[in-house]
Amino acid sequence: MSQDSASAPNFIRNQIREDLDAGHSASVVTRFPPEPNGFLHIGHAKSICLNFGLAEQFGGACHLRFDDTNPEKEEQVYIDAIKQDIEWLGFDWAGEVRFASDYFDQLYAWAQHLVRNDKAYVDDLNAEQMREYRGTLTEAGRPSPCRDRSVEENLDLLERMRTGEFAEGEKSLRAKIDMAAPNINLRDPVLYRIRHATHHQTGDTWKIYPSYDFTHGQSDAIEGVTHSVCTLEFEDHRPLYEWFLANLPVPTTPRQIEFARLNLNYTVTSKRKLKLLVDQGVVDGWDDPRMPTIAGMRRRGYTPASLRKFCDMIGVARAASTVDIHMLYHAIRSDLEDNAPRAMCVMKPLKVVLTNWDAEREEVFEVPGHPARDDMGVRRLPLTRTLWIDQDDFMEHPPKKFFRLSPGGEVRLRNAYIIRCDEIVKDEAGNVVELQCSVDLDTLGKNPEGRKVKGVIHWVSEQYGVPVEVRNYDNLFQVEAPDKDRDVDFLEHLNADSLEVLNAIGEPALAEAGAEDRFQFERVGYFCADRHALEDGSLVFNRTVSLKDGWSKAQKKA
Ligand code: ATP
Ligand code: MG
Repeated sequence: MSQDSASAPNFIRNQIREDLDAGHSASVVTRFPPEPNGFLHIGHAKSICLNFGLAEQFGGACHLRFDDTNPEKEEQVYIDAIKQDIEWLGFDWAGEVRFASDYFDQLYAWAQHLVRNDKAYVDDLNAEQMREYRGTLTEAGRPSPCRDRSVEENLDLLERMRTGEFAEGEKSLRAKIDMAAPNINLRDPVLYRIRHATHHQTGDTWKIYPSYDFTHGQSDAIEGVTHSVCTLEFEDHRPLYEWFLANLPVPTTPRQIEFARLNLNYTVTSKRKLKLLVDQGVVDGWDDPRMPTIAGMRRRGYTPASLRKFCDMIGVARAASTVDIHMLYHAIRSDLEDNAPRAMCVMKPLKVVLTNWDAEREEVFEVPGHPARDDMGVRRLPLTRTLWIDQDDFMEHPPKKFFRLSPGGEVRLRNAYIIRCDEIVKDEAGNVVELQCSVDLDTLGKNPEGRKVKGVIHWVSEQYGVPVEVRNYDNLFQVEAPDKDRDVDFLEHLNADSLEVLNAIGEPALAEAGAEDRFQFERVGYFCADRHALEDGSLVFNRTVSLKDGWSKAQKKA
């Protein structure tokens, strides 16, 4: 995977280069056009990296335009969240935030223009009738009885639709193209629907709203977008996109280019489905760390750089494919490996008493914040008579090759001495609740004489340790393609064990952790301080990803 794949060629970049060389456009303007009906997800991150990336590479501009033609489903909170996510990813849109609704007056004038040229008409068919008349892939459609209304009547009806004279669904404005066109999108598509809804930008001004198809390309043209990059499902809409540009006095003619959307296994990337998870309380909001939303991944501990790197790694293609989620884990792991300070944190505490260590004795070890980063300074680790180790680092009846602690066995406390387990203390139920150990004081920074001690375990002083809550996340879905099967609700595939909460104890420095500070908990994984919990005054660490890298190993083998 090359470091500079962001500037490596892909088919879109080649197309733009050709257009520039041929003089079709003098500079490059792209846009990212979200509908504000939910939070952005990892698929949108791909589109953002692509659109803003292209503008950057060609020294052009990328606009942020909200495609806000659906007032009932859209909300200001989504607009705010989307802007924040894009900024957090590290991109700046050119100029002000734009809204398709800024162009409603112009779009209406263009609708009248089509009517005047006998290229649009007001139809009385309702949605169901329209579907009937539309025909099928193998059968031509039939013209609506309203198709031959006069220009005057159409202009009058359109204006009365606009002023709210008709009920929703009573009438619509349709383009007059070709009811027998092989491409169904050209069989007189709807341009305007009646909606008596309050719009988040335009209030109650409009009683009719333009369709996505009638809005998108013209908005591109108004803004001088040169390359309108979208996902493959719009390929069949391209003839329509171009029909509008050809039949309206638009100031510029953008080019639409399609690419394959990102699919990720074990994940759903559809705002509608993600909204269901939120609305049904399956997750704790749009930014639940298990969500594939940008806000969720941010809370989980992903860095902007790791998401941009991931988008680079997966590249841009025309063929649809599904990306292995381990690639995403790999991207964040390699970022945090280099950039996250280290800390010790005991996940499931087991008490250890050092029997030959005085109760008042304290020894403080100064160790690097990061093994390869002097700029991260030092941490101070106090060792006291009583400490915590992880339950998983002790076994009463260990198998062969278990190099951690067991009765009579020795292990090194990371950054400190070697200890030996002399005795086990159990509760009435037979659970091991304490280990009595002795320290070999002649083993600091050196191996003991005459014997090999292979294991190293992490630990935290009981007196100075900081209680923290740790949240371990697993995939939200148990199967690779949760929404593949049309007959099974994707919610059936939820993983009941996607969240594990532990009462852990961390080294003293963790008490100072700020919102979204990230750490490698040595021998365990990468964790990020939860900002919502911190606001409530408690310390919660979200596990970003474990230490093991399945993807990179598989790549090496392949
Ligand atoms: P969803 O189905 O999740 O609602 P959408 O396409 O309806 O997605 P929009 O807000 O319209 O959501 O998307 C804004 C831009 O992001 C569009 O250009 C769209 O093509 C792109 N996009 C959406 N999903 C993906 C994806 N999975 N991979 C790449 N680009 C995507
Ligand atoms: Mg969309």
